[in-house]
Amino acid sequence: MSKDGMKTCPTCGEQIAASAKSCPNCGAKNKKPFFKRPIGIIIILVVVIGVIGSFAGSGGSDSDPAGSSDSASKEKKIEYTAYSVNEMMKDLDENAANADEKYRDKYVEISGKLGTIDSEGDYFDLMPTNDEFAVLGVTCNIQNDDQLAQIKKLKKGAKMTVRGQITDVGEVIAYSLDIDEIK
Ligand SMILES: [Zn+2]
Repeated sequence: MSKDGMKTCPTCGEQIAASAKSCPNCGAKNKKPFFKRPIGIIIILVVVIGVIGSFAGSGGSDSDPAGSSDSASKEKKIEYTAYSVNEMMKDLDENAANADEKYRDKYVEISGKLGTIDSEGDYFDLMPTNDEFAVLGVTCNIQNDDQLAQIKKLKKGAKMTVRGQITDVGEVIAYSLDIDEIK
């Protein structure tokens, strides 16, 4: 290999001074190897950083679909907050605006007793257990035939727990819920 201060001319193979601007033998320009020149180092750095950046970038864009599949799997593992229909009706009676904020769009696991079952099989009412004269409760909208089959096995007044998402809150209709699961 080259001795200190000397190098091999890439054109003619003679030993020349590394600092020489051109080869005294053949006249070829004595270029430092690309990677030893500042511009070469800068270009290599830029390329390396660019490659790392594109990896990081593709990693970032990969994490988007991954992220959405994460959130999709989270939707399958929804955290349901447990309430009784009793306390939901109390909240609504005390302050409908607060009840709306507390329950609307929330995933809840609510317990109560089975009220009216819609003859069309579209919904049933889940009523408070502490008020036998209650006319309002949670209107539970049946989402599929499996849920309907479960409800058909039950009788009015049966204690039950339903999981789902509250879709509506109001003084007149009380609560509406789309059923995820009947327990
Ligand atoms: Zn030369």
